[in-house]
Amino acid sequence: MAYILDERINQVAFAGSREKTIVCEKASLAGSVSQRACVFCGSRVVLYPIVDALHLIHGPIGCAAYTWDIRGSLSSGPELHRLSFSTDLHEKDVVFGGEKKLYASASELIDTYQPKAAFIYSTCIVGVIGDDVEGVCRQLSDEKSIPVISVQAPGFQGSKKDGYKVACESLFRLVGTQNRPIPRKSINILGDFNLAGELWILMEYYRKIGVHINATITGDGRVDDICNAHNAALNVVQCSGSMSYLAKLMQDHYQVPSMRVSYFGIEDMSDALYDVARFFKDDEMMEKARELVKFELTRLLPQLEWYKNQLRGKRAAIYVGGAFKAISLVKALRLIGVQTVIVGSQTGTTEDYDLIRQLCDEGTVIVDDSNPIELSHFVKEKKADIFIGGVKERPIAHKIGLGFCDHNHERKEALAGYEGMLNFAKEIYATTMSPVWRFTK
Ligand code: SF4
Repeated sequence: MAYILDERINQVAFAGSREKTIVCEKASLAGSVSQRACVFCGSRVVLYPIVDALHLIHGPIGCAAYTWDIRGSLSSGPELHRLSFSTDLHEKDVVFGGEKKLYASASELIDTYQPKAAFIYSTCIVGVIGDDVEGVCRQLSDEKSIPVISVQAPGFQGSKKDGYKVACESLFRLVGTQNRPIPRKSINILGDFNLAGELWILMEYYRKIGVHINATITGDGRVDDICNAHNAALNVVQCSGSMSYLAKLMQDHYQVPSMRVSYFGIEDMSDALYDVARFFKDDEMMEKARELVKFELTRLLPQLEWYKNQLRGKRAAIYVGGAFKAISLVKALRLIGVQTVIVGSQTGTTEDYDLIRQLCDEGTVIVDDSNPIELSHFVKEKKADIFIGGVKERPIAHKIGLGFCDHNHERKEALAGYEGMLNFAKEIYATTMSPVWRFTK
């Protein structure tokens, strides 16, 4: 394992071994070329799907280009989120300051697009030159009568996970600023970003069992709903890495309880429905949830059985942002006969990794905050047949000559819910069994 830097050796473990707990939740090692993105990127991916807000990136054009249309988040209405505006700072702005440019850009954009709110993102260079972005936002809020929120996210301040926190703080500035009556059995869905329309699938399940959706944060998100989010009875949190901090703020300030769920795989999807019904102590809701699960499984299981027979014995590597998703993926892969041989995440906690260790077969590599060199070696050593990850893992897989399944921002296929489980099986099958891999070995 010469390819693992000495300082990172405790961030790698193996399922079934008696080693001490994996080291995680620490800053990336300088020079290790972590797969994690910057703070600004973290805040941008979380806030991006708010479709009726203006998103203005205060910085050089590269920061805006890096995160341009970064998620495949669909909207049922406005599409203002898909435009990525930038103040395009240049050398002169760095010397003399960019506040005037920021004010002029934001003012013109707000007048032109009439958004419900505006998010102004500070990038690295703004953190260095010290523009008073808060001051400009205050002035614009007063003049334009909409919330103009400063997202203090200079990239160098930490990693993507710190950006999630910054995004949650920005969202929390909206929460509680409107009060509209909503049905008693209402939830907010936190941490689903409506990739390929997944949120709509989940909303339909909840609607069928009698749950009202108050705010979706942030997939297909609306500013007014977020402002009224504190009136929901429960926050249901997926992608806990990005949204648990907002749930905590709402618990502390508005006493809105939260629960963590996953919508990937049959078991976790069903639990997400049962847990909500249990929370509301509603027998009728629970009965409807049971009926829905039974109906969906009667259709789905025979189809999955076919894929299981085809895929039996195949091996998968998983490297994703949040460990909770990795846990769901291990279970979902097992259901279709695929063994997980590598599991890693950018932001997992000790509890997450302990759970992964118990869940996986002996010898499975478990890794925190990995890098391309490590991942390439793990994948080759463990003879993985497919790599499941995000945009930055795709080139690693393709360079090795390995099938890749995108389970992150860019995907165009809904992989959540029962419908998503079938899509997942189809994608794993089509990619793993493709004859093209014969030519790369
Ligand atoms: S690291 Fe800094 S310069 Fe690079 S994208 Fe992030 S904010 Fe922009």
